Amino acid sequence: MINYGMDGKVALVTGAGGGIGRATALAFAHSGAAVLVSDVSDEGGAETVAQIEAQGGKAVFQHCDVSDGAQVKAMVAAAVEAFGRLDYAFNNAGINRITANEYDDENWDLSIGINLTGVMLCMREEAEVMLKSGGGAIVNTASINGLVGNPTQPAYTASKHGVVGLTRHGALRWAREGIRVNAVCPGVIETPMSAQAMADPAARKMIEEMTPMGRMGQAAEIAGAVVWLCSDEASFVTGLPLVVDGGVTAF
Ligand code: NAD
Repeated sequence: MINYGMDGKVALVTGAGGGIGRATALAFAHSGAAVLVSDVSDEGGAETVAQIEAQGGKAVFQHCDVSDGAQVKAMVAAAVEAFGRLDYAFNNAGINRITANEYDDENWDLSIGINLTGVMLCMREEAEVMLKSGGGAIVNTASINGLVGNPTQPAYTASKHGVVGLTRHGALRWAREGIRVNAVCPGVIETPMSAQAMADPAARKMIEEMTPMGRMGQAAEIAGAVVWLCSDEASFVTGLPLVVDGGVTAF
């Protein structure tokens, strides 16, 4: 893992109680940033904080449901309260529910509320704080389903296409004010989210076969892309949906 020299910087990660969020929180800490770990899972968040502290890093946990504006405001305030500033934000919390009826009303509202509105609420609060200190970098988690269609999962696909659009908006909105906004678009990654679907060996085999690199991705491979996007090494990169998918969308 590369150390990007983020000593004295502060990162906020939503959905950091497991999977891609936890791996990224650990990667920010590895580069020296203090981390505001946030999730609806208090247990998962506490475990991430413990893992960061065990590797000698600094982290605090703040419970936050990203679909709730008041909780998002409190989360961003908690980062400033704990560490005095905010430099990087990874808006990653998301859900991918498999429902019997793919046009289920409740699933639509939940998916859009968490995956898309949640990203907007976070970006809005984070930018306000970053603008006060001269800028920062924001990365939103979309998906390859944010770039290409999917015959099932209309809510997930629409929410992730929305995240890509919101990312491009943010990049343009704050380009001259020092905030870069990018997205990461993972392919199928081995996390608790994909575990249920991949428990079936036939489903796993199908995913491996349709992926040109012949395997699923690891959370740390997304974390590496996110921390790079936030680092000064990516200082001229903004508005990019960065695909990390083992070649799935190269066809
Ligand atoms: P995960 O389920 O392991 O982690 C998601 C985390 O988000 C969990 O800790 C969960 O508690 C939290 N969360 C759920 N609802 C929340 C809410 N309302 N507010 C705050 N936190 C909430 O999943 P993951 O695979 O690590 O997914 C992270 C992101 O990556 C998601 O946005 C997902 O859509 C995206 N993604 C995942 C894959 C994959 O294959 N795993 C592929 C493409 C995109």
